[in-house]
Amino acid sequence: MKKRVLLVLLALLCTAGGVCCLMGGRESSRALVLGEPVRLWAQAQDLCAYALEMEVDPRAHTARAELQVTYRNNESCAMEELHFLLYANSYSRQDYQIFEAAEQAQAYPNGFSPGGIAVRAVTAAGEALPYTIAGEQEQVLKVELGEALPPGGQTALCLEYTLTIPNCYGRFGYGDNTLSLANCTPILAVYDDNGWHDYPYYAVGDPFYSDAADYTARVTLPTGYTLASGGVTDCARRGTKNVWTVQAPARRDIAFVISNGFDVTEGAAGNVCVKSYSLRGQEEAGERALRAACRALCYYEQRFGAYPYGVYSVVQTDFFIGGMEYPGMALIDARLYEPVLGQELEYVTAHETAHMWWYAAVGSDQVYEPWLDEALTEYAAREYTRVCAPDAAQAMEQNISMMRQYRAGTPGAVNLPVQAFEGNLDYSAWVYEKGADVMEALRLEMDAQEFDEALCAYYQENRLGLTDRAAFESVFSRGFGAGLDQWLDEAFRAP
Ligand SMILES: [Zn+2]
Repeated sequence: MKKRVLLVLLALLCTAGGVCCLMGGRESSRALVLGEPVRLWAQAQDLCAYALEMEVDPRAHTARAELQVTYRNNESCAMEELHFLLYANSYSRQDYQIFEAAEQAQAYPNGFSPGGIAVRAVTAAGEALPYTIAGEQEQVLKVELGEALPPGGQTALCLEYTLTIPNCYGRFGYGDNTLSLANCTPILAVYDDNGWHDYPYYAVGDPFYSDAADYTARVTLPTGYTLASGGVTDCARRGTKNVWTVQAPARRDIAFVISNGFDVTEGAAGNVCVKSYSLRGQEEAGERALRAACRALCYYEQRFGAYPYGVYSVVQTDFFIGGMEYPGMALIDARLYEPVLGQELEYVTAHETAHMWWYAAVGSDQVYEPWLDEALTEYAAREYTRVCAPDAAQAMEQNISMMRQYRAGTPGAVNLPVQAFEGNLDYSAWVYEKGADVMEALRLEMDAQEFDEALCAYYQENRLGLTDRAAFESVFSRGFGAGLDQWLDEAFRAP
């Protein structure tokens, strides 16, 4: 995500300057040539799999879905139950507080609008399985397997549910022009030695944590609507409707944006097929987003290693949170497509694109250790801006120094969980900006080449997996030598 920092940048800029759908069966085979399967599929042998069948009524703001889940027990213990996260329910009541109080008017410009997920059935081989809805936001679905599943075992479940889509400018909701279905597909919580991580939907940060899995989807929409996703997308007419198929292997999540006003432009960054979805009338900004995404992909591939997927979509979206990353896709705040905000569009696109390496490919606990992806992502976006978008660098440097001043009067540290921060401004100041400062300082301390090599090794060794601070330190200590833990502790706390 790129949120509050953006608003500070917007303020700076405003002071300074005023303020195709690819039809038929060809896209899959072309994307195949472009390299979708070769990057991560080979490593993705033991992943769980989700197959989603969903019909969306974009006018009634509802969706009816069946999700087939192939669960492989990759743990060392037998599993008696599975926990799925139902974040859509976090949108069901205003007092669940998934937005800060000061953000309510932006999230719900027409007043609070509830959304949610109604689970109709959970079955395995046609037999109903007992389940309960739990969690402080009704965001946890606990399914009893009946018989314990041993390590290495596999089972297939089917979840049937209905979504009520709120009139909300958050990650899940609809606005005047687009409908976002993000963080609303049930997803297995991460299980480890500490048990299930079924975190609630916090208002600060991107409070999500998940394992990589293989996703496929068939989404039925009325004709005239376009589906944007982070996978290889295909579309076929069926009667009065279109059926959109999506193949998205080795993704950490799946999200969709739907609109009947998208203009789609397409380009390439090396072997990656890049698409830009912009709203009609803003095609020129859509082209700029496409160019920025292609430039950023090429730059990061050079710096960190091959982009993990063969396709990438940048999507103009009705939401207020700047930018938001999903594997293979970036949602970008529709307001950034205004001509006066061209630099912001490029910066936010660069930030979200860097998340494809840090969050999507290399996963981490974004609630407990959000710096692991955000500090590296912001560091990457700064480097990109200085090298590839020098026109935006001055505003960025001003913002960095403003954030430094802000932190001097705000207690905090980089390596805190999201719930330790008062709000998104403090969170940004520490986790993003100070986090990126620490990465820059570490590069100076280690020697640039050693740091760069460590970053490539960290990516290579952790793609598809989940990392933590210990994993980060074990790679970077090779170049840093002894004492990295203590060095980071001091750097994380200094304003
Ligand atoms: Zn981010």
